[in-house]
Amino acid sequence: MNFSLQDIIRENIKSLKPYSSARDEYTGEASVFLDANENPFNAPYNRYPDPRQLALKNQLGQIKKISSDHIFLGNGSDEPIDLLFRAFCEPGADNVVAISPTYGMYRVAADINNIAYREVLLEEDFSLNADRILTATDSATKLVFLCSPNNPTGNALNQAEVLKIIRNFNGLVVLDEAYIDFCPEKTLLSNLDQYPNLVILQTLSKAWGLAAIRLGMAFASPEIIAILSKIKYPYNINLLTQEKAAKMLLSEEQKDKWVETILQQKILLANELVKLPIVLKLYPSDANFILVKTTSAKTIYQMLVERQIIVRDRSKVALCGEALRITVGTADENRILINALKEIGEINGNK
Ligand SMILES: *Cc1c(COP(=O)(O)O)cnc(C)c1O
Repeated sequence: MNFSLQDIIRENIKSLKPYSSARDEYTGEASVFLDANENPFNAPYNRYPDPRQLALKNQLGQIKKISSDHIFLGNGSDEPIDLLFRAFCEPGADNVVAISPTYGMYRVAADINNIAYREVLLEEDFSLNADRILTATDSATKLVFLCSPNNPTGNALNQAEVLKIIRNFNGLVVLDEAYIDFCPEKTLLSNLDQYPNLVILQTLSKAWGLAAIRLGMAFASPEIIAILSKIKYPYNINLLTQEKAAKMLLSEEQKDKWVETILQQKILLANELVKLPIVLKLYPSDANFILVKTTSAKTIYQMLVERQIIVRDRSKVALCGEALRITVGTADENRILINALKEIGEINGNK
């Protein structure tokens, strides 16, 4: 491998002098703060939040067993995805490579930044072939997007294939682990120091039950983290989010219990789904959702909507013909879904 971070940073980002906020210039303790034109009333919300989110990063670092200089916090995973484009991809010139099908935000961020987006189809069983990804890259490829477990397919990618890409690609490999808490395969977080071109994305939106507060995480070398931090909005994580995240991170056992319950429910749900005549196939899932091949995705989707049950129609997505993506809910929610699907099957003349 011939990876050099300096070689892939855009020139304007390299030479950028970042905005220096009042909270950046003075970081110590004090009793009188008259440096940021804040209103002195309405504490604590009158004060700008910590732009470096140090307390939260230290707490997260303990849970993830990684030092805080390896952590970037963003307004959801969306923010680090966008910042990776802005830091490393020259609009109109560079390209990125991604697996297909996968999470839609990578393409949207590429389109917004005017970066060519090259898709490489997964195999029919949704497995990853490293050589096909590597073949799609060229000297203008700055990022490769992998997602494991993958959305919407639900499967974890083979780790040996993922590592082969990391070892043989001279740009950054962005590995999205949004669903890693649900997955038996382990995170690559502990391998970060071995791979200077690896960026791992995780989020509080799924297992931690905090989609509403918008907290995404990127883990990478301190050099990569410094670049993302330099170009982010100064106060990108608001105080309410920092406080709520800190509080939730004290209850890791709660998160683990939720994950366990969801995984048990997933088995029950899968057992019921396979019995239905309108279900042709369940794809193996390492996440908190199941991709289901049906007799007619569009019709079934509409009939569920009529019953006020919303799943995701993925039938227009590559390799996902007639497939619905179903999130595992509570026992009650899953039962309501199964009963509705039984009814729909009977209406459609399947018994
Ligand atoms: C849900 C999801 C995320 C989470 O995005 P946030 O912006 O952090 O809420 C990230 N990646 C994938 C693949 C997802 O499915």
